Amino acid sequence: MKKYIFIVLLTVLLTSCVSKAEDSRFKLMTVCTIKLEAKDADNVLEKAFDLISQIEREISVNVESSYISRINQNAGKSGVKVSDDVYNLIRFSKEVSEKVDNAFDISVYPLVKLWGIGTEDERIPEAVEISKILPLIGSADIILGEDNTVFLKKEGMGIDLGAIGKGYITQKLVELFKAENVKNAIIDLGGNIYLYNREGNVGIQTPFADRGQYYTVVKVNNKAVVTSGPYERYFVSDGVLYHHIFDIKTGYPSNSNLLSCTIVSEDALLCDALSTAGFVLGEERLEEIAKIFKVDIKAVNDEGEYLNFYGT
Ligand code: AMP
Ligand code: MG
Repeated sequence: MKKYIFIVLLTVLLTSCVSKAEDSRFKLMTVCTIKLEAKDADNVLEKAFDLISQIEREISVNVESSYISRINQNAGKSGVKVSDDVYNLIRFSKEVSEKVDNAFDISVYPLVKLWGIGTEDERIPEAVEISKILPLIGSADIILGEDNTVFLKKEGMGIDLGAIGKGYITQKLVELFKAENVKNAIIDLGGNIYLYNREGNVGIQTPFADRGQYYTVVKVNNKAVVTSGPYERYFVSDGVLYHHIFDIKTGYPSNSNLLSCTIVSEDALLCDALSTAGFVLGEERLEEIAKIFKVDIKAVNDEGEYLNFYGT
């Protein structure tokens, strides 16, 4: 009997140590929400947001001293030594590019700058401006040297990790949560979702509808759900929509027949790279992408059809 009471007391004591914390903050140029249950939840939540800020400082093109900005500033001149994590992230990006015919390619930065979509300077460039910078794009010219150095072969080249930054940070948050024995968590980095140790439904945004309107939901646990779509950043000129995801072969916003491409998998980083790649490649290639990378894909095409591909 005594033993029984002791066990009950211990259980009560242990569970009472676990607290909940939740907050939304503007980071990564979007709203990031984290909700978690852990021992000393408030403290873990602060560590999580600190980690987001720290990685943003390391990899953002908008931070002049970031590794990525320094690589770009030294394009065509010299290699820049980066951290193990950033080196591996760039290597991962190059490997994915090779497998998806460069539909996802982090050397896209000259195009991102030229079009300026979502900035005050957004505009439709002249065709000649585009053809001039196309030779600067292609991640085969990102040279990974010994000793963690990254060198861009041609002056004017540039890396932009916008298509995988949130996926990478999600992966790092999951590592932090494991180390901190977090009981469960929801990570939402501007719509890039990960459910950690908890089952739940994740809604997938209806393209061009008000935020929070979902065309479907997926039930997941310990998985990321990441979507790419033209509706996230675009402008319209003479009735034509110009969005922020480029086909590096043409230099124009990708004109695949998709309005939305969602990847579901345990690997948040892979999800983010493939959501961009899948969106550029279009409906015809999604079955192949799902099989090769063993991920599930949900997409909407321009006829409003809902598409499902299963690779798991
Ligand atoms: P996402 O919303 O994850 O598809 O990422 C889109 C962002 O990635 C854009 O805002 C650009 O910064 C960058 N980007 C655009 N096109 C590409 C591309 N084809 N490959 C890699 N990154 C891209
Ligand atoms: Mg992406």
